[in-house]
Amino acid sequence: MVDAHQTFVIVGGGLAGAKAAETLRSEGFTGRVILISDEREHPYERPPLSKGYLNGKDERDSVFVHEPGWYAQADIELHLGQPAVQLDRAAKAVSLGDGTRIHYDKLLLATGAEPRRLDIPGTDLAGVHHLRRLAHAERLRGVLASLGRDNGHLVIAGAGWIGLEVAAAARSYGAEVTVVEPEPTPLHRVLGPELGGLFADLHREHGVRFHFGAGFEEIIGQNGMVLAVRTDDGEEHPAHDVLAAIGAAPRTALAEAAGLDLADRTDGTPGGGIAVDASLRTNDPDIYAAGDVAAAEHPLLGGARLRVEHWANALNGGPAAARAMLGKEVSYDRIPYFFSDQYDVGLEYSGYAPPGSYDQVVCRGDVGKREFIAFWLSEGRLLAGMNVNVWDVTEQIQQLIRSRVVLDPHDLADPAVPLQSLLA
Ligand SMILES: Cc1cc2nc3c(=O)[nH]c(=O)nc-3n(C[C@H](O)[C@H](O)[C@H](O)COP(=O)(O)OP(=O)(O)OC[C@H]3O[C@@H](n4cnc5c(N)ncnc54)[C@H](O)[C@@H]3O)c2cc1C
Repeated sequence: MVDAHQTFVIVGGGLAGAKAAETLRSEGFTGRVILISDEREHPYERPPLSKGYLNGKDERDSVFVHEPGWYAQADIELHLGQPAVQLDRAAKAVSLGDGTRIHYDKLLLATGAEPRRLDIPGTDLAGVHHLRRLAHAERLRGVLASLGRDNGHLVIAGAGWIGLEVAAAARSYGAEVTVVEPEPTPLHRVLGPELGGLFADLHREHGVRFHFGAGFEEIIGQNGMVLAVRTDDGEEHPAHDVLAAIGAAPRTALAEAAGLDLADRTDGTPGGGIAVDASLRTNDPDIYAAGDVAAAEHPLLGGARLRVEHWANALNGGPAAARAMLGKEVSYDRIPYFFSDQYDVGLEYSGYAPPGSYDQVVCRGDVGKREFIAFWLSEGRLLAGMNVNVWDVTEQIQQLIRSRVVLDPHDLADPAVPLQSLLA
């Protein structure tokens, strides 16, 4: 039974929001829990949208966080298909698009992120796609199937995780695929130059073409349809459809209009997410943020802010924020983690080691066979590790990162030396 003495409101019906609602109940909160989402669907997970659901292996029903009936059973009040359009901090109220005004005692902003748009001529043509929502994936799935049937051509802007996963899905339908990427290798800003080439090889083996060192300049169309992509080095790539996979921007509009503090991006420019402390609290003591939209002070990074756009951060950050909203002691110090699947390659990455932060990369295992672990080190200390088609090592990798022990690269590279033994 809900007693209405307190109302906790969650804006954002993604994984972070749904898991926060679940945690409020599992921690025994008996007040009202209201979950607001501008999407019509119940909260769902996004990773399948560029993998199993997109390539046709997973059913639509498999992506949802909870069964639809769970929300009523758990007394979670849903406002689906309704954007929260205004946050009145003085009155502690959120207004929805349909005019409904909802009072909160505590508020969680879990508004996620949205795809960045190409700012070039031709982006309004019918065959230009983005991938964030289930509806996008439904549409893209149909597009890839028909490109496969008709020998059609997909040109993808961006060789990041989503660009590469969609390239793999598109090849599984038999579509022609070209990926355009300004950096010299795929995944450059995550993996650096040392390992990006491996992903270029993997995709080339499956028939993907790459055009590195160039960006989109124009999407050329005729009668509203895509004909080709012109890159800024003057080349033209035939295209029937285009996917813009150039990253995502945190959805901070509501927070910003309400005067909450925002973080800078890592390059110092604004737009880095809602600034929260290690308990995921904003500069307003009754408002929290979690998931893709939150830039949290990370205890393992000396309190520097990090915005992590990955599934595990929504899965764990939503519950952490919920516990903090309930007044529990929270210091959210999860090591960033993500996974990816492309063709027969599955990987997990733990840590944070953008180019410039590490001075050595060490591999253990068979890189050529794509069965290995890569380690990024700085002065002998582990910053990040990625296991590729090697499993059950994430915990050890994360322990090594946390331990900050100085490691011998020869031991790290030697599969005969158990990772656990390096902790001593
Ligand atoms: C195609 C794709 C594939 C991915 N694959 C992986 C993967 O393999 N591994 C991995 O680690 N991560 C992956 N991710 C990232 C992962 O899905 C995200 O980190 C995760 O979805 C973040 O969850 P969230 O709840 O913070 O935000 P979201 O999932 O974005 O949910 C936010 C919700 O809030 C809603 N909303 C926003 N503003 C408002 C408002 N004002 N009013 C009401 N509702 C609002 C949004 O519409 C959305 O429903 C992938 C992401 C995508 C898009």
